[in-house]
Amino acid sequence: MTTTPKETRAFQTEVKQLLDLMIHSLYSNKEIFLRELISNSSDAADKLRFDATTDDGLFEGDSDLHVYIDVNKEERTITIRDNGIGMSRDEVIQHIGTIAHSGTKEFFGQLSGDQEQDAHLIGQFGVGFYSAFLVADKVTLTTRRAGLEHEHGVRWESAGDGEYDLETVTKESRGTEITLHLREEADEFLDGWRLKSIIHKYADHIPFPIRMLGTPLPAEEGEEEKPAEIETINQASALWTRPKSELSDEDYNNFFKHIAHDFENPLAKIHQKLEGKYEYTLLLYLPKRAPFDLWQAESKHGVKLYVRRVFIMEATEDLLPRYLRFVRGIMDTNDLPLNVSREILQQSPAMDAMKKGATKRVLGLLEEMAKKAGSFEEKDTDEADASDSEGDKVVDQNTDFADFWAQFGTCLKEGVIEDHGNRDRIAKLLRFASTTTDEQSVSLSDYCERMLEGQDTIYFITAESLAAAKHSPHLEVFRKKGIEVILLHDRIDEWLTSHLNEFDGKKLQSIAKGELDLSAIGENAEEEKKEQAEKAKAAEPAVKKITEALGDKVKEVRVTDRLTESPACLVSEEFDMSNNMERILKQAGQDVPDMKPILEINPDHALVTRIASIEEAEQIADYASILFDQAVLAEGALPEDPAGFVRKMNALLTQ
Ligand code: ADP
Repeated sequence: MTTTPKETRAFQTEVKQLLDLMIHSLYSNKEIFLRELISNSSDAADKLRFDATTDDGLFEGDSDLHVYIDVNKEERTITIRDNGIGMSRDEVIQHIGTIAHSGTKEFFGQLSGDQEQDAHLIGQFGVGFYSAFLVADKVTLTTRRAGLEHEHGVRWESAGDGEYDLETVTKESRGTEITLHLREEADEFLDGWRLKSIIHKYADHIPFPIRMLGTPLPAEEGEEEKPAEIETINQASALWTRPKSELSDEDYNNFFKHIAHDFENPLAKIHQKLEGKYEYTLLLYLPKRAPFDLWQAESKHGVKLYVRRVFIMEATEDLLPRYLRFVRGIMDTNDLPLNVSREILQQSPAMDAMKKGATKRVLGLLEEMAKKAGSFEEKDTDEADASDSEGDKVVDQNTDFADFWAQFGTCLKEGVIEDHGNRDRIAKLLRFASTTTDEQSVSLSDYCERMLEGQDTIYFITAESLAAAKHSPHLEVFRKKGIEVILLHDRIDEWLTSHLNEFDGKKLQSIAKGELDLSAIGENAEEEKKEQAEKAKAAEPAVKKITEALGDKVKEVRVTDRLTESPACLVSEEFDMSNNMERILKQAGQDVPDMKPILEINPDHALVTRIASIEEAEQIADYASILFDQAVLAEGALPEDPAGFVRKMNALLTQ
């Protein structure tokens, strides 16, 4: 046998930082170490069971997968032992000692110093193993990968001080054994009752038995003390297979924390068994807070696929669409073969049916939350794919949709763009600010209900910020007529509105695009129209002068009735890119063809009438240029020549 001598290695810098944080700043909630380590053992058992579906030999004659917890009061140690997949030497180096997580920098950037919040992040980030150092000043891990020779065991040991020792050892049994040498202040965890209550609290739902030595039975008179028996502490059955009537909110919440690596309770959940062409069970949760990597390109999906209770894989876009990547939970089916490649699984019709069914139900849950009804009754009965076998389909936790929207609203906007089939359903869930409220609380249906007589269009404006949208000159005539306008200021809104052209038979229209005709809305419409035509005629000389002065800076100059206070605004052709979109793309470094805007002028404004009265070409040019740059500024953008604008403006002011 070739043994590698004991070597000492340094932790990756990030691990050092993390350990420092664990040991010195997280005082509360130290008991979670046990949850994290049991959770890792459970994952290891899952992996072994999956690999063994194609290679029985990996069981090495022992298929009784379990976790055993051993307490030694004299040595002041706790040992957590599993017979899961184990690790090879390379795997130990890779997994225990480095954080192989993308976004490590972002993670450290997000730490706030607030213990509760940081603990929450640590869990999400998936650094569970290191939580051992919350209670231990030395940790010894011995492991052997299933299928490797006994001599290829590995021992890893560290005092959490920046380095660890590594040596090759002989280990008879496969799997991982972690011994925690407790810190003095962590003595409470030597108490068997305390450990059992922690296991109940956090690990009842783990589908493998967690065993401990029980308390010795009291001896009858004249007999010797009976040796203690080994007890199984947890329920040890997959939680989602148990009847709902047996499960408490706490059970559900604990399972969520386990599966989502979250410290908070979920916002809402769905637990359904579906029967029909395909049979599957869903247990899906909406977290309270967005995971830290929600906006990273490679952000993980949070749903796990099980086949007949055997863990198969972390979900991908094959199991739930990308815009629902914040959903956490499991899907379990009997209708997929266990021993085929993941690629084949991904193309199976059963998988497709599950994806459709799960998407539908998540949207259904969101609809219910939006309605804020107490309990949920599903209305979509057009299901050829599956029907629920138990009456009570979705358990709503009486949550506020606004909380959900604040965290994940933008994802739903992606949904409108990506998921053509569910577009109308998702559109109903969208919430916006409007000229009636700054809160993102207006639904398109609310808007439609408030439409004025004669109005058949949903009006919106996109801008760089809520303030820019709210104060846009384009809104002036809408304010005057009392027509509500939706205020959009998310980057994604430009894409959203280019995909969502219609809602409930009503057209969505940008108020900064195309010609505006509000003549059908409100009273005196005919008169207004006539008056406007007269004004336009009267303003013709001004239009001509401004057009000549601005030259090819604009596509057209025209008179508008959009404005009541501002002298001018920019609009684009109905089917052109909006000015806001053009700016976003340019900022992102994309090559965008220069779109010339249309300058619309307010014939009643003093600045416009003034221009009509000036004859000197140079002065007209200055006035026209100021008019144009003001319109640019009002959009929240910068004039092409800001210093020139200031100079001309000052000259005017001091005249
Ligand atoms: P996470 O579990 O979120 O990946 P951890 O720091 O808890 O983060 O564990 C890191 C990795 O170490 C795991 O992904 C797994 O590959 C490995 N590991 C940890 N504990 C065990 C164990 N008991 N058996 C096998 N592998 C383990």
